[in-house]
Amino acid sequence: MPKIVGIDLGTTNSLVATVDSGIPYVIADADGQRLCPSVVHFPAAGAAPVVGLAANRVRVLHPATTAYSVKRFMGRRGADIPREDMLLTYPVRGDGAGPVTIPIHGRDFTPEEISAEVLKKLKFAAEADLGEHVTRAVITVPAYFNDAQRNATKRAGELAGFTVERIINEPTAAALAYGLDRLKEHSKIAVYDLGGGTFDLSILELNAGVFQVLATHGNTRLGGDDLDKRLVDFLAKRIKASGGPELTWPLLARLREAAEAAKIRLSTETETEISLPFLTPDFSFSHRVTRDELERLMRDLIEQTRAHCLRALADAKLEARQLDQVILVGGQTRMPLVRRLVSEWFGCAEFEEERGSLRLGDSFHERSGPLLNTSQNPDEAVALGAAIQAAILSGEFKNLLLLDVTPLSLGLETFGGLMNVIIPRNSTIPVKAGEVFTTAVDHQREMLIHVLQGERERAADNWSLGQFAVQFERAPRGVPRVGVQFEIDANGILHVLARDLKTGAQHVVEMKSAVDVADAEVQRMVEESVEHAFEDLTARRWIEAKLKAQEVLTAAQSGLTECGAELDAAARSQVELAVTELQAALATESPATKTGDVARLKAAHTALDTATQPLADLLMDKAMEAILRQRGVVS
Ligand code: ADP
Ligand code: MG
Repeated sequence: MPKIVGIDLGTTNSLVATVDSGIPYVIADADGQRLCPSVVHFPAAGAAPVVGLAANRVRVLHPATTAYSVKRFMGRRGADIPREDMLLTYPVRGDGAGPVTIPIHGRDFTPEEISAEVLKKLKFAAEADLGEHVTRAVITVPAYFNDAQRNATKRAGELAGFTVERIINEPTAAALAYGLDRLKEHSKIAVYDLGGGTFDLSILELNAGVFQVLATHGNTRLGGDDLDKRLVDFLAKRIKASGGPELTWPLLARLREAAEAAKIRLSTETETEISLPFLTPDFSFSHRVTRDELERLMRDLIEQTRAHCLRALADAKLEARQLDQVILVGGQTRMPLVRRLVSEWFGCAEFEEERGSLRLGDSFHERSGPLLNTSQNPDEAVALGAAIQAAILSGEFKNLLLLDVTPLSLGLETFGGLMNVIIPRNSTIPVKAGEVFTTAVDHQREMLIHVLQGERERAADNWSLGQFAVQFERAPRGVPRVGVQFEIDANGILHVLARDLKTGAQHVVEMKSAVDVADAEVQRMVEESVEHAFEDLTARRWIEAKLKAQEVLTAAQSGLTECGAELDAAARSQVELAVTELQAALATESPATKTGDVARLKAAHTALDTATQPLADLLMDKAMEAILRQRGVVS
């Protein structure tokens, strides 16, 4: 099976990743670079384009023939793009309904064609790393991309020689890379993505193992580049103040490069030196910047993302504390201030702790904020997630990802023909769970362990995986105790253990694979359970009410036999009336639906409970007397 790679085709940087022996990793190019700037330079008409870091370096020297940030134009009509967004250092053409083109050396390039050059470079790096032809890819796009934008991305992949197996959402890919598909069903997560030129906040919900985008908001013109510009402006002022030269294009470019590098250093250091020796032959510049200063310069830009977070939450009709996790994506989220602010806005647990002991006392217990998960590399998460998706598609990850949850609930048939779930659907494997059962009938000699799989309330509507009997000594009902344990091992095999808790005798039975069920069948079972939810619930309520009613009925009848004669006539006829009514209520069960009048049954049950109170007191007195007599207290 040919390999499928995962690609993050970013506005600023692009990456290609793959999975080897279950481990996802980003592929480095021949120079050891894992991030490929999404920049393409065309040296001359017909000449091979220069891509990535090399193109980024010549960008300032050849601004008109070096294209970058073309992702903004993918699949968009010229008319839909604000004029100012088209003002870049290279020409962008596009008006009306036609697509945007980029004329360079007399040729009109489409954004897809330029992206294809970036993709070709990634393809080349992947082939060198894997030692085989690579022709299949999963490519990511922002969650807000429309059909036209997704199709343009697919076309770019095809132009680069890929079969695009799937286009997936960036936040979804990031969540996969963080392993969040293993969170509990209906978990909600926020993906905060601050890249080089764009900001997105997406809210996802995990539904049946699939991430659903509940809301997405953002700013396509806000990112790390804007933060860099703040530092550039600040430094430019300093240069001017110290009698420096007029900042021409190439000088400005050097300044920008130094500013970005300093910003990046200040994510790990608290102070750094920015030095630009020989800016002109007789002027060198150097300046120390602290992290505090940097934060003051950039803070308001980062704060602009807050409104988008709030709007996305409002669209998803959620409050921050209802989120399970917040994950960070995009190189710019490595900045400590970004982490601090995001943590604060979403009320993340980590941040509360940082505030120290003062608030701990009262806020500790009510602290219900999401977890700020920073366990992955923010600039690699999207590519890694795409690679994981690719591995799932090619079947390579089956054992690790698809089989690591139980697709359907596993349980036992209990008295009355109901399904008793022991391991719920979507539990992560390996997993072990158990319960203790007893008998419902006197003098039962054995108990049938009937193992079921499915989501329906009635045993008969689920699939039977197998059955066996556990023998024990005769005893009144409720006395024998049988512990049943279900264990699904890492291979998805279900081992059922049943032990007589009195003697310790036990059976272990291996059932067939509990997780290797065809997707279509799982879906059908889940759909049926939803479809029949109402009747299933009615059936369960009836069966449970019936079992309880039969129990009190038996008790009342044996109580009457035992000491009915000692009861006064009025009380006795009360009990007899209630018994008759309960029997009548039980008789409402229709043979067709196997359900009856639950309300009437419950009312009759309550009435019998009340009516038997004097009888119960009498029985209790007698029992006490018997005990006391046994101990010789009364004779
Ligand atoms: P995109 O998704 O737009 O392609 P990335 O996720 O690669 O972009 O993010 C690129 C941005 O992240 C750049 O502005 C870069 O300066 C910034 N960045 C990268 N590393 C760091 C860091 N350690 N600290 C702060 N910013 C960083
Ligand atoms: Mg990105």
